[in-house]
Amino acid sequence: MAQGRRQPQRTCLGCREVKEQGSLIRFVRSPDGEILADLKGRLPGRGAYLCNRRDCIDAALRRKQFDRAFRQSCQPVTAEQLAGGVAGELLAYLVSLLGMARKSAKFVSGSNAVLDALTRKGSLAVVVLARDISPQIGEKVRRKAAMQKIVTTDLLDKAELGRILGRAERSVVGLPDGKLAEAFLKELLRYQDISGEC
Ligand SMILES: [Zn+2]
Repeated sequence: MAQGRRQPQRTCLGCREVKEQGSLIRFVRSPDGEILADLKGRLPGRGAYLCNRRDCIDAALRRKQFDRAFRQSCQPVTAEQLAGGVAGELLAYLVSLLGMARKSAKFVSGSNAVLDALTRKGSLAVVVLARDISPQIGEKVRRKAAMQKIVTTDLLDKAELGRILGRAERSVVGLPDGKLAEAFLKELLRYQDISGEC
């Protein structure tokens, strides 16, 4: 394990387990009592921490742990709404990482280019397929990626992927190995955890 300063520890409001702060999601209470997910940890005020899991959010709401943590009552909200808010923020972050890939021209897009890149070992770290990619092409990309143990995910649709990358519709995008792909994979795992997708 890399040596580094130990991260501060926090207790999850749901399962009560003590974990590293960075692995938990921070929530704050807005002045009008709304519970907000604070993924970047930048919102002011007292923070409440939870695992990035729907059942921990559920447990915390059921036992009124947010009211206790913030020492004030909060607006009613369902676990589904809170989890949806977290998933939405994580998705926005994934989109911004794809936008960064565009700015630094660090991506491969289009089924031919991605399939071609997948024939070269180690050229890609993650492959994003549009949800509306044609099933045959999707299958082909997934099979080739699996052979190299490259993570694939279904996100957004062709029009959205194209817009993020500043092009016409894009059915598939690959990110080469590097810091950006690393950050993308980390957030993708969190997104899949909270949205129950894979
Ligand atoms: Zn928990």
